Amino acid sequence: MKKRILLLAGGQSGEHEVSLMSARSVLAALPRDQFDVTPVVISKQGRWLPPTDTARALESGVSVQGGDLVLHRAASAEGYDAVFPLLHGPMGEDGTIQGLLTLAGIPFVGSAVLGSAVSMDKVMTKQVLASAGVPQVAWALALRHEWRNTPDLVRVRAANLGFPLFVKPANLGSSVGISKVNSAADLNAALDLAFGLDRRVILEAMTSFKPREVEVGILGNDTPIASPVGELQFDADFYDYDTKYTEGRATMHIPAPLPEVVAQRVRDIALTAFRALDCAGLARIDFFYVQETGELLLNEVNTMPGFTTTSMYPKLFEAAGISYSELVTRLVGLALEKR
Ligand code: ADP
Ligand code: MG
Ligand code: MG
Repeated sequence: MKKRILLLAGGQSGEHEVSLMSARSVLAALPRDQFDVTPVVISKQGRWLPPTDTARALESGVSVQGGDLVLHRAASAEGYDAVFPLLHGPMGEDGTIQGLLTLAGIPFVGSAVLGSAVSMDKVMTKQVLASAGVPQVAWALALRHEWRNTPDLVRVRAANLGFPLFVKPANLGSSVGISKVNSAADLNAALDLAFGLDRRVILEAMTSFKPREVEVGILGNDTPIASPVGELQFDADFYDYDTKYTEGRATMHIPAPLPEVVAQRVRDIALTAFRALDCAGLARIDFFYVQETGELLLNEVNTMPGFTTTSMYPKLFEAAGISYSELVTRLVGLALEKR
C-alpha cells in the first residue's frame, strides 16, 4: 500500500517563498511507487489553499489570497499517513502546526511541539544548551515592555556585552531584523527594528574575531547520525538576508576545510544539542568557528532547514552517500517510527 503524504508549504513567515522552493524539490523527489503526495500551500495570511491555487503557487513561487482557515482544513488532514510540514519560521517551524497535527493524531516529519518551540526561540535554545554544557557566545534577553518602559536597563545589558554586538528578534530566521551594532549610538535603531518584529529580543556578544560559519546536518530520532560538516564563505560583514538569498554571494564548501578534530567536535556537540532540545527527524545545526582562538560556539538550531536540492542540509547528506530522494524517504520513515 502506498503511503498517503500531505506536504505543507508556504506559510505565514518571511520564509514563505523559500518554503515553496523547498516543497517543489521534495514533491519531485518522493518516490511515486511508495508515496501518494498531496501538496497544500498555506498562504501568507495563514489559509490553506485549494488544489488549483496550490498548484499555481508551487509553479510560480507566489501564492494568492483565499483558502480556508487552518482549523477548518485540519480535519481534512485525516486519512493521511503522515504530514511533511515543510514550513520555515514562525507558524510552521515553531511548534504551532506540530501541535495541531499532534491533536489530530497524524504523524509528521521533524521535531514535535517541544523541540520545535524551544529551537525556534534563540533565548530558550541558549538556556537549554547552556545547561547541557554547549559552548555559546555571551548573551542577554530583553523584552519589548522593558524597551518601552525602562530602556536604560536594556542599554546597560547591551553595554555589558561590549561592542560590536548582535541584536536579533528571538523567533525569526533568514537574518530578518538582525543588526550588528558597532557602538552605543546605533543601539536604538537596532532595538526598535528587532522589537518591531518580536516581543523577545536577544542581545549577543560578537565572537572575538569574525567567525568561520560551519553547519552540520542531523538525521534520526532517538539514535541520530551527523553528516559531514559544511562551511559557508561569503564576502560580507555578516551573513545577512541579501548574502543568503542573492545568487552567487555565498559559497558552500562540503566538506568544510577544517582539521578532522574540529569537524568531529562539531558533530559531537550537534548531537548533544539535538538530544538536549528533544529534536526529532532532522535539524541543521550552525556553529561559529573562531580560527584565531580555536573556539567553537553553537549559534543556532534549525528544525526545518532550507530543503531545495541545492540547500546545505540535503547537500551535507548527499556527501554522506544519501541521495535527496533517499533522504526524504527516510524522513517520512522516521515520522512513522514508533518511539
Ligand atoms: P538567523 O536565524 O536569522 O539565521 P543567526 O543567529 O544565524 O540568525 O544570525 C545570522 C548571521 O549573523 C550569522 O550567520 C552570522 O553571520 C551573524 N552573527 C549572528 N550572531 C553573531 C555573533 N554572536 N557573532 C558573530 N556573528 C554573528
Ligand atoms: Mg535560523
Ligand atoms: Mg542562521
